[in-house]
Amino acid sequence: MIAVIKQSATQHQLENLVAWLESKGLEVNVSEGKEATIVGLIGDTSKVDMMLLESMDIIEQVTRVTDPFKAANRKFHPENSVIQITPEIAIGGGHFQVMAGPCSVEGENLISIARAVKAAGATMLRGGAFKPRTSPYANQGMGKEGLELLCAARAETGMPIVTEIMDPRDVDLFIDMDIDVLQVGARNSQNFNLLKEVGRAGKPVLLKRGMAGTIDELLMSAEYIMSEGNPNVILCERGIRTYEKRTRNTFDLNAVPVLHYLTHLPVVADPSHATGYTRYVAPMALAATAAGADGLEIEVHDNPQCAWSDGPQALLPTQFAELMPKINAIREVVA
Ligand code: PEP
Ligand code: MN
Repeated sequence: MIAVIKQSATQHQLENLVAWLESKGLEVNVSEGKEATIVGLIGDTSKVDMMLLESMDIIEQVTRVTDPFKAANRKFHPENSVIQITPEIAIGGGHFQVMAGPCSVEGENLISIARAVKAAGATMLRGGAFKPRTSPYANQGMGKEGLELLCAARAETGMPIVTEIMDPRDVDLFIDMDIDVLQVGARNSQNFNLLKEVGRAGKPVLLKRGMAGTIDELLMSAEYIMSEGNPNVILCERGIRTYEKRTRNTFDLNAVPVLHYLTHLPVVADPSHATGYTRYVAPMALAATAAGADGLEIEVHDNPQCAWSDGPQALLPTQFAELMPKINAIREVVA
């Protein structure tokens, strides 16, 4: 970290600053030039609040020269991480997976949707049993019963399951039921207690980007999980909220190559929540594949008009089946 000192700073103020920084265990290098004085900080600068430094009267500007995320950083781990979901199924480093299924687990139709997406080429089943709804009066999901239906669908189809966890107190339940991938949703992307708890659980985590989250914030959330000893983090770009009203969110496909540049973790894209409308899901699924995503999460429902949640963005199983060969064709080109 480098701090530029204002020309108006007195020698006494500078000495106080250096003493304070040294008291934090940092090595401090002062170079006094004609035009500016620069203070270089060496050591674990993650302990220094950059904004606090910037707020000081004698400081002109502060620049970080190293990223605050370490475990997720590609600099310290140049190879792509390959995350093993089951002994047969991995994601990242050339392994591409398609997670498909309804937004909410609603009952017996889960099995028929699961069979249909599997037949079309999906490799993992998604479905929400605990639903983060904007309104407390909206359906909150089937809870444990929904997890049981997911496990039954897994037993029948052989597809591993990915489902959202909202409460740190549910981690034991998810572990007991051997849920393959714990999804942390956009609304919980910075629920640090939940991140720490899924970090302790050790199971693969699909971490979605917060709807107003920056790429760096997403990486710091991954860091929370990884710093608890769980390296199995899969990042997910699912659209961010912008001024655009024609789509539910704005699909930040830049995030896919940017994340690949910054981190070794696999990156999944979710064109369903990113667009919000069935008609846009297929083209954006293809675009995300072309951008280099390691997988896709796509909502599929057999009767979208009656879906408990997110019907307007659901693909019918037939639409999903038409999309899969195109995804595979693009994979051939970019892989
Ligand atoms: C979901 O996957 O159904 C979901 C709620 O996604 P997000 O957290 O991205 O809104
Ligand atoms: Mn949904």
